[in-house]
Amino acid sequence: MQPSDRVREAVRGFTPYAPGLSMEEIRERYGLTRVVKLASNENPLGASPLVKRVLARKGDMVFRYPRAGNPALVAALAAYHHVPKECVVAGNGSDEIIDLLVRVTCEPGKSNVVAFSPCFSIYVQQTKLCGVTLRQVPLTPDFGFDLPGLRAACDDDTAMVFLTNPDNPSGHAIPAEEVLAFARSLPPRTLLVVDEAYAEFAEPAADYSMLPRFAQCDNVVVLHTFSKLFGLAGLRLGIGIMPDWLADHLLRVRLPFSVNLLAEAAGMAALEDTAFLQASLETVVRGRKLMAEELTRLGCHVYPSQANFLMLKPPVPALELFEALLKRGIIVRALKSYGLPELLRVSIGNDEENAMFLAAMKDAIEHGC
Ligand SMILES: *Cc1c(COP(=O)(O)O)cnc(C)c1O
Repeated sequence: MQPSDRVREAVRGFTPYAPGLSMEEIRERYGLTRVVKLASNENPLGASPLVKRVLARKGDMVFRYPRAGNPALVAALAAYHHVPKECVVAGNGSDEIIDLLVRVTCEPGKSNVVAFSPCFSIYVQQTKLCGVTLRQVPLTPDFGFDLPGLRAACDDDTAMVFLTNPDNPSGHAIPAEEVLAFARSLPPRTLLVVDEAYAEFAEPAADYSMLPRFAQCDNVVVLHTFSKLFGLAGLRLGIGIMPDWLADHLLRVRLPFSVNLLAEAAGMAALEDTAFLQASLETVVRGRKLMAEELTRLGCHVYPSQANFLMLKPPVPALELFEALLKRGIIVRALKSYGLPELLRVSIGNDEENAMFLAAMKDAIEHGC
């Protein structure tokens, strides 16, 4: 007997989530003083000043459990998004909501889930862990959404369809009206989960988000996160807006305190700091335009993006360029783990980070990496 014989078969083949490289790692490996991380689509301006003040004050309270169900946060979110509070579930990142949705709606060995290929790796991992078949439909060659193909992959056992809009890693997005029509075309049992981690960055956001249309459909779950625009990736806070009967079931099985006291306080402060949100959004929209222009000038093919990152095909081999950028202290995301070894993804940083990235790109491309 192998020790791992004691581990469930579905778990033995697992590889952990591949995160962006850490700044400390690269600083040490190449003996650098300054490292710029543009690999995980975090907020380019850091954390909101209001969030930092609230966190400092709340420190005294960390010996207390948070209130079960985070009612103050849920009420604030319901007001912010104009949805009933019975429809809001907060989680330890939207990752936790994805995990709960799979475990609550899928019958292992019977249900299936449908998504595009490539897709966000958490959909793949959590279905696999639960023994649920994931049916993947290829994106079109230019990373567009083949919605008829996605619909054709569904049957009466399809518990959920995952749609990331805007998409990661491409930045491609479709208007919410098209998503709504797609939701209405699904089999009666099937839920559409629209992962809108990047919806705030689309222009105009209201045309791309399902939240303003939430009342018009009874089979849609919308995921939002505090990890990107709201600048709280390290505190882990995400939300699902869903039909009240589904929210009720998620809350029955969710571990009671998965949204901790600091995440709850920070989330509420982040919603209030409209000046910071506005400045972050402006930085991303301005940076995205500038980066796309400059990268095109450097000979890259840049895919149109409605998110806070750009996907690109460089004029030199992408993995060599990735290493060349690391040596110069710039961390981007190589898309090999998405099955796209010829592409890179770069987050939009602040003005200084963008300039450093572009200078390193120019240098590496001109010197053949
Ligand atoms: C970043 C991201 C999320 C956010 O995950 P959290 O767990 O909230 O940090 C969700 N979905 C996609 C597609 C993402 O890229």
